[in-house]
Amino acid sequence: MNLRFSCDMMLFDLVRWLRFLGYDTEYSRYRRRDKNRIYLTTNKKLKDAIILEHVSLEEKLITLEKYFKIIENANPFSRCSVCNVVLENAVKDDIEKLPPFVKSNFDTFKKCPKCGRLYWKGSHYENMVKFIKELFPDLFNF
Ligand SMILES: [Zn+2]
Repeated sequence: MNLRFSCDMMLFDLVRWLRFLGYDTEYSRYRRRDKNRIYLTTNKKLKDAIILEHVSLEEKLITLEKYFKIIENANPFSRCSVCNVVLENAVKDDIEKLPPFVKSNFDTFKKCPKCGRLYWKGSHYENMVKFIKELFPDLFNF
């Protein structure tokens, strides 16, 4: 999981997906602020960047899989989609404010050490996995 991305502001939908898949992904207003990151942009004038102009989310993911195997090497449920930091395991008994339905139906929880947001594999997670599985039926095994 050494791939790190930087996306221009137009690619906000992609940032959420890359973080969901486990990749360290930042927004960047300027090109290549961090040279250790792969720069993804909608600006076709830029060089040394992956251009993802006027294509659907599906096409963006297919392009990135082709270049970087982002689906094959994905590690979903490992990174906060808001803060971009790696999630920590959380023990259910230590979590006070879980809705009763969640507490009785899920056993695995993760917590963002930065914002405190809790993650579990509920309908939101399942919908994202379903979307990826339909797009990459042979690659995604979660
Ligand atoms: Zn967070």
